This record gives sequence, structure tokens and C-alpha cells, in this order.
Amino acid sequence: MKPLIVANWKCNPKTLEEAKTIFDSVKSVQGSEVVICPPVIYLSALKANGAQDVFWEDGGAYTGAVAPSMLKNMGVTHIIVGHSERRKYFKEKDDVIAKKINAALTCGLKPILCIDKLSQLPKDLDQEVIVAYEPLSAIGTGKAYGLDKAEAMRVDITRATGDKNVILYGGSVNAQNAKDYIHQAGFQGLLVGGASLNPKEFIDIVKNVCYC
Ligand code: PEP
Repeated sequence: MKPLIVANWKCNPKTLEEAKTIFDSVKSVQGSEVVICPPVIYLSALKANGAQDVFWEDGGAYTGAVAPSMLKNMGVTHIIVGHSERRKYFKEKDDVIAKKINAALTCGLKPILCIDKLSQLPKDLDQEVIVAYEPLSAIGTGKAYGLDKAEAMRVDITRATGDKNVILYGGSVNAQNAKDYIHQAGFQGLLVGGASLNPKEFIDIVKNVCYC
């Protein structure tokens, strides 16, 4: 199976022109399955396949919300759910995150559930959810998590969820360390934040993890 590399652009860049430049530089990179999650406002222009969040209802009187069907109809296939920044700055709790996972699955979207501890896994995870292990100390800090500790957590997640779920590592991934999380620590892919805004770095990450 090809590694799954997910780019989380967060709230960047500031203009559509910059977004197009980054997207056009990386969209054809080969060797891994690539999902790019730009800010939702750029989705339609870029025709990107990932989004950073989703609402739990599929439409109605919810000012500012973006429904799963809207994303699906725009060509989105994957949705990041429960990112630590959503938990911290938007006060999202596990019950809300569970509703978003269900809404995404109902609509045929693949949720990428971000966790930094096992207790954040939904109790009854009987459907296929991609789990991204993102230790808080490693997100956006330039201090990637130790390989042994990351691998131990991957094993625990697999034990808790069964082996149907793809498990990603996220946290200060770069072109130098990307391969180790896949080939040594056994993750099936990566969630890449800061480095995904640098086309050369992101292309090198995708190429370096390739089994080809
Ligand atoms: C992230 O935002 O999910 C992330 C892992 O960020 P960074 O790669 O910048 O640590």
C-alpha cells in the first residue's frame, strides 16, 4: 500500500494566487497517495481533495457552517477532524468530534481523526477512520516525537481499534525524518503541517517515503 501523505495548510496562505502556486507545484507528485487540505475558501478554485474541518449537520440554519455534502460535492474525499488546534482554540470536545466523524462517514467522506492520547479514540470505532497520532509537543515546534515512543503509540492505537484503520504520524515532519516514521515506526502515512506549505520540502517528503 502506498503511504498516505496529508497536507494541512491550516490558516495559510493569505491569497488565492499563493495557494494556486503551492498547489500547482505539488499536485502531480507521484509515489504516495496525497491529500491536500487548504482553507475551505480555496477548495473550489483548487479542486483540492481534502478539508480541515466539517460541520456535523448536513445543512440548515447554521450560520458560517460548511456541511459534509457541500465538501463531497466539491470533490473532497478526506476531512481532518479533531485537530488539536480545533480542540484548543475552538473548544471542540470528543462528543462534537464524534458527531463530525459520523456526519463525514454518512456522506461518504473519509475522516482523519487527530488524537494525542488513546482516550480521544471513540469508544465504538466500528467503521474505517484514519487515525492521526499527533503528540502535542511535536506540533508546529520543530521537535518531532521520538521514533520509539511514536511506534509504541501506533501499536497501542492498532490494539485499541483493530488493524482496519490507517494510522498516520503528525508533528514536525520534514524531508529528513519522514521516512523513519513510515519505514521504522510502521505508520502508514503522515499528517504534515508547516512543511506542506513549502513545495520543495513537501515533494521531498512524498518522494522520500515512497516504497518505489
Ligand atoms: C499539524 O498541523 O497537524 C502538524 C503536524 O503540524 P506541523 O507539521 O507543522 O508540526
